[in-house]
Amino acid sequence: MKITVHRGTDPIGGCVTEYEYKGWKLFVDYGEQLPGSPKSNPLEIEGLTKGDLTKSALLITHYHGDHIGCIGELPKELPLYIGKLGRDIQLALSEHLSYVDENQNMIIERLNTSREFSPGQLFSVGPFNVMPVTIDHSAFDAYAFKIEADGVSVFHTGDFRTHGFRSKKLGKMLEQYVGRVDYVVCEGTNVSRSETTSYSEAELQKKFENALAQKIGHIVYLSSTNIDRLFSFYHAALRAGMLFIVDAYQKQVMDIVAKSDSLWSKSKLYRYGEYEPLTLFRKGDDFTFNDKFIETIRSKGYVLIARANPRFDKLIQELPGEKIKYLSMWQGYLDEKNDAYNAALAKALEGGYQYLHTSGHCDMNSMNNLFRLLQPKAIIPIHTDSPDKFAELFCEEWPVIRLHDGQSIMPISSLTADSCRLRMFYTKELKDETPCESREDGEEAYGLDAKHIGAQPQWNRE
Ligand SMILES: [Zn+2]
Repeated sequence: MKITVHRGTDPIGGCVTEYEYKGWKLFVDYGEQLPGSPKSNPLEIEGLTKGDLTKSALLITHYHGDHIGCIGELPKELPLYIGKLGRDIQLALSEHLSYVDENQNMIIERLNTSREFSPGQLFSVGPFNVMPVTIDHSAFDAYAFKIEADGVSVFHTGDFRTHGFRSKKLGKMLEQYVGRVDYVVCEGTNVSRSETTSYSEAELQKKFENALAQKIGHIVYLSSTNIDRLFSFYHAALRAGMLFIVDAYQKQVMDIVAKSDSLWSKSKLYRYGEYEPLTLFRKGDDFTFNDKFIETIRSKGYVLIARANPRFDKLIQELPGEKIKYLSMWQGYLDEKNDAYNAALAKALEGGYQYLHTSGHCDMNSMNNLFRLLQPKAIIPIHTDSPDKFAELFCEEWPVIRLHDGQSIMPISSLTADSCRLRMFYTKELKDETPCESREDGEEAYGLDAKHIGAQPQWNRE
């Protein structure tokens, strides 16, 4: 099997990984590069963007733009696999954005011909066996994959974390569906951002619940597809006896999850409680509300899930009484020096805000616990802006293969390695009577045996 990372070894974003065996090609993710990262040339990849596609397929780990955002550009004949619920959420998002972004229509078209996989159900593409494993991330219905061919197994993590509501079962799931693997192709978003995981999702909910003791307006700026956070804050509002107010698009996204029969559908977190979120109505360009609405929010307080746009700005101005604003996403959007700077969001939060957020990605200690469960021969970092730091951090315990964009490794299956011949040479003189060979390039090379490299019984089969 050959593993190639076409993009995403440094920095984060736009990851494309290829697994190839006997002419069959399995690609994982095809997303946009993050704002501000140096744009690479458009990718030209045989079997993905061009050429023979009859032995190819693309797997999508989850619906974040840096993993799925460019699928609209791919040829229609290329089979694309994605989890059902993730696809439905992306379709709602793309439809919502299609009024301002033409590219979204191409994503919708591509998703309409996609194929589904289900968590824990093995499927095959040519010689590849693929096991999708559901994993906790700030995108819902996100997956890691165990990919096997040629006697080599790889765990491709996708984006994940271990401090969310759905993380507790990770160890058990890995034991049941993955076991040990030869390689881990691993995301490393938080290598240099240890502070982003200081709270668990449950602790964050508790903090928000405490804030709701004040019966005033609580206005939260939050990604519309951060399902766990949305439902977490919704239930907090319910427990505080407050209205939870969203617009029609946000309600549609919540409905998709609440009415699905996904793996998590038994969890109360993703079900509506005593009353559903209240949907804002529109009249022309603006939201409209009546006196009864104003009376209710005055007496009970409310949680409003807002987005930084003129319609919400106007609504918030018109709502009476005291208000607190919260930012519940990455703070980099407010940093003018950052290329991801969001001027509308910065303006909406001008008068001050409280920060209530925790990362969708794994911290490095938990990452090492994952490696200990999987016991890989080596780890290949992707989706990171600090690949060298990642290597430094883990290399004492695990071999780390630091690839650059476009580079490949060819793991040899243990079946093949057992029957091949290996001779190792060292080019500096050794102290003892180690046999010496003169080579064509004029170097003298000293043959190494088990006493230098440790016992490796399978290597003795010449
Ligand atoms: Zn992601």
